[in-house]
Amino acid sequence: MELELWGVRGSTPVSGKDKNKYGGYTSSACLVTSEGEWIIIDAGTGIKKLGEKMIKHWEEDPAEIHILLTHFHLDHIIGLPYFAPLYSPKITLNFYAGSNPEQTEKYLCGLMGGRYFPLELGETPSKKVYKKIPEKEFHIGGVSVSHCPLNHPQASVSYKLQEKEKKIVFATDTEHPEEGIDERLASFARGADIFIYDAMFTPKEYESSRQGWGHSTWLEGTKLAKEAGVHKLYLSHFNPDHSDKQIDKFISLAREKFPQTYGAMEGFKISL
Ligand SMILES: [Zn+2]
Ligand SMILES: [Zn+2]
Repeated sequence: MELELWGVRGSTPVSGKDKNKYGGYTSSACLVTSEGEWIIIDAGTGIKKLGEKMIKHWEEDPAEIHILLTHFHLDHIIGLPYFAPLYSPKITLNFYAGSNPEQTEKYLCGLMGGRYFPLELGETPSKKVYKKIPEKEFHIGGVSVSHCPLNHPQASVSYKLQEKEKKIVFATDTEHPEEGIDERLASFARGADIFIYDAMFTPKEYESSRQGWGHSTWLEGTKLAKEAGVHKLYLSHFNPDHSDKQIDKFISLAREKFPQTYGAMEGFKISL
């Protein structure tokens, strides 16, 4: 399977010479499984470019796309109206979220139509199916998908995608506990090959004024990675105010604590 990162920024898209290395699009990633299924995690602004690639890939053929939503904060769904497959009658979009299917549809419809967009979501030509993520793990083709609740305002979930022995865990919007680490997340991520974690704030920013905002730091990421025995830690959900230089700096600090630390980067592909 191959994971491609399409957006690694948190909160709001940004641009600028000092943001080019990691990229300015918000959360979106796509896993292409060995059996050829496409599983998308989140629909931030990064999903637009992904959609252009998908449309070219399928051209005339009908296709099923699976979109796992971690939660409904704008940085995780705002790219959806600009996702080209939404406008193809040959495509079925399966949306999975922690909420009931009716709620998921309502939240996503709220993004479009009215004064916000020329079309309602329901008027777009693709077929849409809304699903609540089952409590227990479920399968999309050859990949098993499970989830774990995270500590985030209005709730968010972490997803684990496993194909044969290979595991990828996304935990992009979460705040660590006051004391110790999030044991539930550590056990969920146990032994993951790739662990993608929320590095929105520096420890200093977090301590000075960002407690209770629902995000974490590179330092907490290294603690969790160590405890969970993951192979590689990818810091992500970067602060829109952090420059490439600042991110480089905290990745090198993180490597002193957990040597297999990397920065998630737009356009980056990881084969497993
Ligand atoms: Zn976010
Ligand atoms: Zn959020």
